[in-house]
Amino acid sequence: MSRRTARPRRPSAAPVSPVTAASPCPCGLPATYAECCGRFHAGAAAPTCEALMRSRYAAFVVRDVAYLLRTWHPDHRPAVLDLDPGQRWEGLEILETTEGSAFHTTGTVTFRAHFTAGGHRDSLHEKSRFVRYEGAWVYETAVFAD
Ligand SMILES: [Zn+2]
Repeated sequence: MSRRTARPRRPSAAPVSPVTAASPCPCGLPATYAECCGRFHAGAAAPTCEALMRSRYAAFVVRDVAYLLRTWHPDHRPAVLDLDPGQRWEGLEILETTEGSAFHTTGTVTFRAHFTAGGHRDSLHEKSRFVRYEGAWVYETAVFAD
């Protein structure tokens, strides 16, 4: 996901994430945050494109900008990533994956991510492309996003 805003950050307006280590993982898998995407946020390598995609979605939820940037291919990553404080991510559906296993060097994940912004429910439908960079999966770019 690459959605971002150019609006200036308002330091006092950033909401505190309600996600704790024992919370259900925001990515939707039946595990706690600490057992699931939290491991990757703490430094473990995501073994598959789908795992990286889920952990990047969860990073949007917990507002882990550093993780989003370090799992973004350096040729495509923005210099600064400002998350919209008015946008709340509500759920992730993985629709399709291609390649992206331990035996591949590229892969795609098609997903729908649900969010609320300005009191309205909406969703982002995207096919993301991932590549290995220095051995680790990173997000390269969106093949399409609508
Ligand atoms: Zn997860």
